[in-house]
Amino acid sequence: MTLPASARYVVVGAGIHGLSTAYHLAKELKARGTGSGADVVVLEKSTPGAGATGIACGVVRNNYFQPAMSELMQACVEVWESDPEAYHYHGVGYVALGPMVQESDLVAVFERQERIGYRSELIVGEAEVDAHMKRLFPDWRAQGVTVCLHEHQGGFAFNVESVMGLRDKCVEEGVQIHSYTEVTGFALGADDSVTAVETSKGRIAVGEQVVIAPGPWAQHFWRLLGLPDTIDVRTPAGETQHDVRMWTYWNLQEGEITVDPLMFATADGGAPPVIHLDTDAPLLTDDGQLVTDELWGIYYKRDRHGVQGGASPLKVDGDVQLDPYPSTTDVDPEFPDMWCAALSHAMSRFEGCRRLYKQARSGGVGSFTADNFPVFDYLKPNVYAILDSNHGYKMIGVGREVAKVLQGEHSSLLYPFRFERFATGDLHPVSNSPYPWS
Ligand SMILES: Cc1cc2nc3c(=O)[nH]c(=O)nc-3n(C[C@H](O)[C@H](O)[C@H](O)COP(=O)(O)OP(=O)(O)OC[C@H]3O[C@@H](n4cnc5c(N)ncnc54)[C@H](O)[C@@H]3O)c2cc1C
Repeated sequence: MTLPASARYVVVGAGIHGLSTAYHLAKELKARGTGSGADVVVLEKSTPGAGATGIACGVVRNNYFQPAMSELMQACVEVWESDPEAYHYHGVGYVALGPMVQESDLVAVFERQERIGYRSELIVGEAEVDAHMKRLFPDWRAQGVTVCLHEHQGGFAFNVESVMGLRDKCVEEGVQIHSYTEVTGFALGADDSVTAVETSKGRIAVGEQVVIAPGPWAQHFWRLLGLPDTIDVRTPAGETQHDVRMWTYWNLQEGEITVDPLMFATADGGAPPVIHLDTDAPLLTDDGQLVTDELWGIYYKRDRHGVQGGASPLKVDGDVQLDPYPSTTDVDPEFPDMWCAALSHAMSRFEGCRRLYKQARSGGVGSFTADNFPVFDYLKPNVYAILDSNHGYKMIGVGREVAKVLQGEHSSLLYPFRFERFATGDLHPVSNSPYPWS
């Protein structure tokens, strides 16, 4: 496919956000009678799903302590539920379990979910949580868990297949997706608007707007647009932190065990919800070695060929070499011991699973903003940025909101993620979770 000389809308990046934006924009233009997918061109330096979307575990949940995240996630789950077949979405639910220190956070999340109409239930008390989990999984045996938020919506989707589903939807709407077309720069007009996008296959003039959805390559695009590496951040308390790095990196640690996926089923043989367990109970390997006696956490889900999940990510000092993505992943060599011990701690069916750990590359690098929450905003008069701070495979609905914003509408769901928040102090509240994305 030859690159057109111009396009009304240019979307950069064919991950979950770029493709969702392109698809919803095509539909939005058609519904308004002002255009169609033929007005939208997606530029991708590799192929669709080559970035973080293609390695995401695929967990879809609402559980966020921050009201704006939780409300946005509700809209995203609505999109997942709109076409489970095309998106390869499995609405099996999601269970978050935590120790005493997380009780107030999960109670607040549950109360908000009740208010916004997101289906979930809350169980408080060690014995009550244990009974709830044993009803689901009779071999449940995790210790130190006093609160459980059981979301009856959400679950997971198969990442690569869902990208293909979105790609097909784009193509059906007439959107052009140009693979192996790397964006190398932007030409700016007198008013600082982007007039053309420079690519490895030539220049494409921009009729109206550009959307960048570069995933972990956020810092690269930030610099291409002339934005600073460090910023001042005003805290909600009114203090100003100077020269805070805008972009940092974390290595996400994930892995899987090769087992018959059906061994991970609920008591009635049903598909299990995704499990996220945090606890401060001592973690021992099956042969009694202490792994940690500090707060630890894991998540896991049934996968096609086994059970897949992860643990807390590791912060990277300084910059990382992202390409070729994600071969730069640097997983803690002790991760398999920890994750398998934790699975066994949770359910006796996983006892001895360490020998079933799959020795394959897993996990990958994520790029995070100065406050670890997304920036969804215009960075130039006609350049809208979707920089999701690694929250976002689950955020398939962001593209639907962005499509409306591109047409001049206000999105109250995206407004809390404007870049200006760092200057005004309208930051998101921070939870007691050990993860940078909760
Ligand atoms: C190991 C791991 C597990 C994760 N698990 C989950 C999970 O379970 N649930 C969840 O919600 N989120 C998860 N995430 C986060 C999630 O994957 C990302 O937040 C999300 O996929 C980002 O989507 P994106 O479309 O912004 O970026 P990407 O999917 O990275 O897409 C960006 C695209 O831009 C392209 N690109 C880059 N530079 C250029 C250029 N110069 N020109 C043209 N194209 C370019 C890339 O090739 C890429 O295809 C996980 C992340 C990692 C790393």
